[in-house]
Amino acid sequence: MSGTSGGTYLGMPAFPEAAHDAVRDTTLRGNLRHATHTIRAKRAHAVAEVSDWAELREAGKRIKDHTLRHLDRYLVQVEETVTAAGGTVHWAADAEEANRIVAGLVRETGESEVVKVKSMATQEIGLNEALEAEGIRAYETDLAELIVQLGKDRPSHILVPAIHRNRGEIREIFAREMSEWGRPAPEGLTDSPAELAEAARLHLREKFLRAKVGISGANFVVAETGTLVVVESEGNGRMCLTLPETLISVVGIEKIVPTWRDLEVFLQTLPRSSTAERMNPYTSMWTGTSDSDRADGPRTFHLVLLDNGRTDTLADEVGRQALRCIRCSACLNVCPVYERAGGHAYGSVYPGPIGAILSPQLRGTGSEIDASLPYASSLCGACYEVCPVAIDIPEVLVHLRERVAQGGTATREGAKVVLRPAKGHAAERAAMRAARWAFGRPGALRAGQRLASRTRRLHPRTLPGPGRAWSESRDLPPVPAEPFRDWWRRTNGGEDGAK
Ligand code: SF4
Repeated sequence: MSGTSGGTYLGMPAFPEAAHDAVRDTTLRGNLRHATHTIRAKRAHAVAEVSDWAELREAGKRIKDHTLRHLDRYLVQVEETVTAAGGTVHWAADAEEANRIVAGLVRETGESEVVKVKSMATQEIGLNEALEAEGIRAYETDLAELIVQLGKDRPSHILVPAIHRNRGEIREIFAREMSEWGRPAPEGLTDSPAELAEAARLHLREKFLRAKVGISGANFVVAETGTLVVVESEGNGRMCLTLPETLISVVGIEKIVPTWRDLEVFLQTLPRSSTAERMNPYTSMWTGTSDSDRADGPRTFHLVLLDNGRTDTLADEVGRQALRCIRCSACLNVCPVYERAGGHAYGSVYPGPIGAILSPQLRGTGSEIDASLPYASSLCGACYEVCPVAIDIPEVLVHLRERVAQGGTATREGAKVVLRPAKGHAAERAAMRAARWAFGRPGALRAGQRLASRTRRLHPRTLPGPGRAWSESRDLPPVPAEPFRDWWRRTNGGEDGAK
């Protein structure tokens, strides 16, 4: 979750419950519809301009698959190249270890505040809360993250975390909260985009100039040189990456690309697929530390490589493709479920279709919310169509549904994945077993169908027991007067299609 925001994802209700409330919020629905439709149309236009988009998509998929297959080798290479460039590499198995490492590194500097570049990895591990518990204040500097942090809110979109807020709401948040965190909002602030941006710029500028420690994630890590890459649109990232003396970057182990040539592919697909831009406005790259007073960049650099469920995900042959994700958010913007339910209902920093397959793999399907996420989709396939690294999200969703239904819940306990039999799906499994028995015995199936036809007037209109809720909101299809096989034999001269 975001920063020192007021909300938490812990103990969130299952997706249907959370979405049930969200879809009744007409302001939220209006904000989401307007924003997702605008981005979606612009993206389609930007992608259509590129004649070799399909080849770039395939190249991106292959590069990511190759890297994930040889991740052990590339991780070691990253450690060597980053160290050779003057940086220090730390390994974090889970969120707790990553937070402990980062808090310790900030404490060593003697500082009690840090500036942050927008980073999904640090939200995933709840870094801001962990730092706050250590007496360290983290300031989000991305405009949308700032809105979320000041509003004591949670992000609801990967790229536009405050997508659920309109301009009027943002004006109110700035006017009410900015003074609590530093420079207050100007008197008479209106909801014009230029005035809101200026208020944020003035508020953040004093923090950039004061900060001695910056914290970031990274979109990519180039293994051959140990170079980290942050792709952003506002320039706030560039300030955090160049002004502070100490830089700490928390990066998921799947963010590696082997070479600069490989990076070139993603620097073409990511901007068009995310913000519909031909070229990204601010692409910051740094390799180790800068050792001259006149050069930009940190004197001390730490890279924290984060696992937190990624090696478990990698072990799943179907599910591992989720690790190809470059967080462009195109799948959110085309998803009919996301458009109506909003990001908060997914109970994770990763909302939308990618969240529905990533969160249950990173966290296991042990909680109500994680077991419900694979069902938060109509399987329409729009997410797969737009994904610039061709992640077959519907395939993974069905795979994870199977895991939830058949395998029960899977939770991580330390390094191990523990499977427990499902309780809530016992009726579904019993029904499937009965169907398997009947379909494996054509004679019994035929006798059952004839009996059902002859007694069709006696059938109840609603199902008893656990099926009642289902049948109360649907009309059961009428049972035909004659089973299909009998009709076929009668109308085709006695030939029974059954083998
Ligand atoms: S799954 Fe694909 S479309 Fe969705 S955010 Fe990741 S890269 Fe983008």
